[in-house]
Amino acid sequence: MSTSTDGKAARELVLTRIRDDERFLLVTHEHPDGDALGSLIGMHGLLSALGKRSEMFISSEDLPLPREYRALPLEPLITQPPEDIAERTVIFLDCGNIDRIAAEELRGGAHLLNIDHHHDNTGFGTLNLVEPTASCTAEIVWDLMGGLGVVPSPAVAEALYIGLITDTGRFMYENTTPRSHRMAAALLEAGVEVPIVYRRLYEDMPTGKLTLLAMALAQLQRYDGGELTMASLSAEDFRSAEAEESYSEGIIDQLRALQGTKVAALVRELSSGERKGQHKVSLRATGDDVDVSVIARAQGGGGHRRAAGFTTGLDGGELVAFLRVAIAEQLHPERNGRAAAAPA
Ligand code: AMP
Ligand code: MN
Ligand code: MN
Repeated sequence: MSTSTDGKAARELVLTRIRDDERFLLVTHEHPDGDALGSLIGMHGLLSALGKRSEMFISSEDLPLPREYRALPLEPLITQPPEDIAERTVIFLDCGNIDRIAAEELRGGAHLLNIDHHHDNTGFGTLNLVEPTASCTAEIVWDLMGGLGVVPSPAVAEALYIGLITDTGRFMYENTTPRSHRMAAALLEAGVEVPIVYRRLYEDMPTGKLTLLAMALAQLQRYDGGELTMASLSAEDFRSAEAEESYSEGIIDQLRALQGTKVAALVRELSSGERKGQHKVSLRATGDDVDVSVIARAQGGGGHRRAAGFTTGLDGGELVAFLRVAIAEQLHPERNGRAAAAPA
């Protein structure tokens, strides 16, 4: 983490709040991923070690969690905003945008600490510790632990490790740094059992997950000479594969791996909730020449340069046209966005 002067000041202010305050609520983004959960558990472990009262919050809409995260120690967990919210310090973890938190009551905390690594974080906290060079939010939590002299228990170390490996794609993405590996080493020393974690996260796979991957690969689409590689999964695909929503996790890495791909897109039809029938789009870039967070932001989403997402009401054809133009604007600005007018 290269910490700017502002970053250093923010870190000190966050450490002071943690030392001085007594009651906390820990919150993360909707559809929590490995980093969201690892950061929650890491921060809870840190506060507990200091004798503070803290609870983790996850909306009941996000429960049960994806199968691979169900063994995580999410205790004490609440699913309704607490009545004493105005007396608590609320810590938002791994959340670039407060609109990704459905429960508005959570904004009513005495202090709002925004701890995150998304470069497009909107700075919604009363105190913002945003470190875009951190590989994951769990890395920032781990750094705060160091700042307060707390050594993680094996269970907390495992949760932080899950944040680290999921956000770095198992140490494969460009956010992987010497510091990420130093963190991994420290977490292994704190008791992480590497093969057990990887088996639970990436193997031990229900049949429906492999069926869903097969369906996605069978109807792969490529546009503009393969620069855009895309697959769409309908609600019916999930039903016939007997797949839970989270089973599509990881499919985009297969699309991204395909030779010639500049941007991979996985489109999933939402089968429940307020946005039922709309599509959640995940984007991954393979290099520096396309910033997919720009494309996601144009549709009200966000993310990182090489991993971003949004939810949209556009239909299939409109979505493809939008993506092709948005990608061409970055890859071929000289063409003035005319790529989508040409045949695929
Ligand atoms: P995903 O494709 O869901 O794995 O998300 C990749 C990245 O994009 C993550 O860093 C998310 O935080 C971010 N992201 C995904 N969906 C949204 C959204 N609707 N709004 C803001 N950021 C998002
Ligand atoms: Mn996340
Ligand atoms: Mn993250």
